[in-house]
Amino acid sequence: MATAAERFGENVFHEGVMRERLPREAYKSLRRCITENKRLDAETAAVVANSIKDWAMEHGATHYTHWFQPMTGITAEKHDSFLSPIGEGGAIMEFSGKELIQGEPDASSFPSGGLRATFEARGYTAWDPTSYAFVKGDVLYIPTAFYSYGGEALDKKTPLLRSMEALNRQTLRILRLLGDTETKSVHVNVGAEQEYFLVDEQAAARRKDLIYTGRTLFGAKAPKGQEMSDHYFGSIKDRVKAFMGDLDKELWSLGIPAKTEHNEAAPAQHELAPVYSTVNLAADQNQLTMELMQKIARRHGMTCLLHEKPFAGINGSGKHNNWSIETDGGENLLDPGDTPAENARFLLFLCAVIQAVDDYADLLRVSVATAGNDHRLGGFEAPPAIISMFLGTELTEILEAIETDAPYGSREKTVLKVGVHVLPRFARDTTDRNRTSPFAFTGNKFEFRMPGAGMSISAANTMINVTVAESLRLFADELEGAQDVDQALHDLIRRTVAQHKRVIFNGNGYDAAWVEEAEKRGLLNLATTPDAIPYLLLEKNVALLERHRVYSRVEVQSRAEVMADKYCRVLEVEANTMSEIVRRDVLPAVCSYTRNLSYTAASKKTLGVGVGYEMELCTKLSALMAQAMERVGDLERALQGSGQDDTALGRAVYFRDNVFSAQRRLREVVDEMETLTSAKYWPYPSYGDLLFSVR
Ligand code: ADP
Ligand code: MG
Repeated sequence: MATAAERFGENVFHEGVMRERLPREAYKSLRRCITENKRLDAETAAVVANSIKDWAMEHGATHYTHWFQPMTGITAEKHDSFLSPIGEGGAIMEFSGKELIQGEPDASSFPSGGLRATFEARGYTAWDPTSYAFVKGDVLYIPTAFYSYGGEALDKKTPLLRSMEALNRQTLRILRLLGDTETKSVHVNVGAEQEYFLVDEQAAARRKDLIYTGRTLFGAKAPKGQEMSDHYFGSIKDRVKAFMGDLDKELWSLGIPAKTEHNEAAPAQHELAPVYSTVNLAADQNQLTMELMQKIARRHGMTCLLHEKPFAGINGSGKHNNWSIETDGGENLLDPGDTPAENARFLLFLCAVIQAVDDYADLLRVSVATAGNDHRLGGFEAPPAIISMFLGTELTEILEAIETDAPYGSREKTVLKVGVHVLPRFARDTTDRNRTSPFAFTGNKFEFRMPGAGMSISAANTMINVTVAESLRLFADELEGAQDVDQALHDLIRRTVAQHKRVIFNGNGYDAAWVEEAEKRGLLNLATTPDAIPYLLLEKNVALLERHRVYSRVEVQSRAEVMADKYCRVLEVEANTMSEIVRRDVLPAVCSYTRNLSYTAASKKTLGVGVGYEMELCTKLSALMAQAMERVGDLERALQGSGQDDTALGRAVYFRDNVFSAQRRLREVVDEMETLTSAKYWPYPSYGDLLFSVR
């Protein structure tokens, strides 16, 4: 039996396999393409394709697919077989260089946000050799970028790759200024911690809302929620443990380094953390992780919920995105280090991130804006929609001391000079405590906690990369013109801290007082997706994205369009589901129950027995039924009025202001009826049934 370590990555055409199986020349040119971001020539492509095919067939593959990430946020694939007929009934297994590097799926059924309003519906996929091909089931998966005939990005990977390039360019300028002549390239590392819920499959199958929308649209509070805090890090149930074991095995075979699995705060909620990897690989791997979680849960008779807020009043699920920059020499540029030079470099990169988050908080917010995540951001368990940064008290004090030339130090106080003095050590664990901050420095990386559980991490990382690249560009411009780089660096850090410290907040982000304080500081609080989308289109933001060649102007416009449109569709499906549940399940159920109550009351009366309970309940429920009827009508009318506006954003605003509020009002009555109706009559499993369904 192979050990877990031996089986790790067994289904991945990774670096080691490439080196072993490719002819020397082909391997060398492929490596060059990967590190220098070049296109593969036709000859090498043919050799590589053949080698990948042979390897894939040995691993059970009969088909291949160009795997891509359209703007829907999920992945897409179309399987083609390797089989080629050769006449006289024979066939060979074939895979050409062209089939490896380019594909042509029909793009017309993927959202394009108007990019294909023209006659041209064709879309292309191009192999991304920086992300490894792998075999899953009987299919060879080739990670690809997806773009239109005109070259516009139609996916989430292309902008991410472009943003990595932009960050690499600007970081190298800075490193040269700091005297680093060795580093050839830098890359971003990301570890995305994934939260999810597991509920029993049979219970979930009886909830139309979970089936159609991934979240519960109704549900009265269960007698027990997370108040006892007994689930977090608690012992894992056998069934869940078996699921996690299977999941790990499959993830490892695909080279996905799942590392820690534990219970989360809410009942039925869990978390998986992988070991970090290069950001575009991390994004691919996270998509696969989500897909496998759902598939393997089914195998264990459970349903995996990846919605950001599957249950009201209970913690939602997010994805904590740990982010850092590393040189090809293996140095983490966010590591404080312990020499004056390392400290100076650290402070500069720290300031670059601070400036990026302050100047472009709006873009970060937009990058995680979806209808689902709106329920979570601002809930008491998730970071609020306000973007601020947590640095920890000690690091903040060090920055303030530098800013004001104030002496700093516990014993010997000195005025810190960047590049001359060694920074006082600040304990890592003091930087790690704050769970309420949306953007926290955790020792040698930043943790962005706003991404929702179900979304791709590509957009968030694209925005972090490009905004930090912009800070570095401005810094490099300034330092390149300086006589004395050390002095200029010192001044730059002081000025950056002074200008951007308003975004630093080490307090409790869940506190209502913070909302007021943030407003005083002039920080944005974009509570909903329709609030956030217009910021994507602000001139300063479009200019930034164009300058770093991450998005063209039309690409930005198309993304805004796709986001707004998706928001409307989600709310539309939710509203339709609600009205179906209320009209066809809830009202008939409560009707039967009240009939039972009134029959009982009538027959008890003939016996001369008191009927206070039946009468009161029946009256109350009848009134609530009438109210539910009225409110479901309101919701349907709100939905009918939703097509009026001719812009997608206008429709999204309408949905939020009319449909969303009507949903909430309807839910109130239905949840109240649930608490009064006999469990035997209620048409779907309760919150308690769902949250404690896995034993
Ligand atoms: P924490 O205790 O701060 O949550 P962990 O060690 O549990 O940190 O790691 C959380 C996630 O962060 C993991 O996915 C881990 O691989 C990732 N991570 C650790 N170091 C880095 C780094 N330098 N860059 C990016 N991600 C990292
Ligand atoms: Mg963490």
